[in-house]
Amino acid sequence: MKFLSIAMLLGMLSAPLLAQEARTADEVLSSLQNNVMKTLMEGNQRYLDQKMRTCSEKNTKTVREQLAKGQKPYAIILSCSDSRVPPELIFDQGPGDIFVVRVAGNTVDPIILGSIEYAAEHLGSPLIMVLGHERCGAVTATVKSHGEVEGNIGSIVDAIMPAVEEAKKKATGLNEAQLVESAIDENVHLVAQNLFSRSPIIRHLAQANKIKIVEAKFDLDDGKVSLFPEVKYKIAQEVKHEKEEKEVKEEKIVSPKKIIYRKKDVTPVPEQELKTH
Ligand SMILES: [Zn+2]
Repeated sequence: MKFLSIAMLLGMLSAPLLAQEARTADEVLSSLQNNVMKTLMEGNQRYLDQKMRTCSEKNTKTVREQLAKGQKPYAIILSCSDSRVPPELIFDQGPGDIFVVRVAGNTVDPIILGSIEYAAEHLGSPLIMVLGHERCGAVTATVKSHGEVEGNIGSIVDAIMPAVEEAKKKATGLNEAQLVESAIDENVHLVAQNLFSRSPIIRHLAQANKIKIVEAKFDLDDGKVSLFPEVKYKIAQEVKHEKEEKEVKEEKIVSPKKIIYRKKDVTPVPEQELKTH
């Protein structure tokens, strides 16, 4: 597994940090992740103030030629495909700065997880941000859906539905718009949790503090990105229990093989014979 080397991290850090030689690897990584967060949030502030500069400053022939040799994006952003939430613009970042994975409802599936794993493991990005946004159409469609949804959009609804159910469980009496916002927040939490639970690569990097997962939401009205409180992720116990229960049930189905009774017959018949009917 290819991890960030300390030398490489130090190369990415600012001069004041280089002076502090006694810092542990964990402290260096933590500082790096905090610096990345600071860079992103300062970029969002420039976007809010309409003082964006990185996008244009970095969009040059020289930068393009440098980046042609390789990329080292310092953050991975998983965000919605919504045309109003372009991460490079809302964080005022340039080419090569952020590795962006966009999909309706900022959900995860094996391909999305694989994309994020690539950036985390091979490109060495030390931070993943799951970015939801206000009035997300994918979450709204899930809240409004009844029964089976036609076409491939059904897969998006299926992925977001647990967040909607969680939002309904946590708060009753919400109107539809409030439920959508609550479900958007829950979806960000669940997706971040899924990054940890469903990707051993991301989990190992997170447990070694080599990658930090953060949750955030973009406000469509004022353009501000707000960070959610930090979460200590763990493999959900209920997932383990569900698996164990399933295994026990399967055992129960498997074990009566020896003697099987026909519905209206008390005479035991061999399983072999039943299969032919
Ligand atoms: Zn959306």
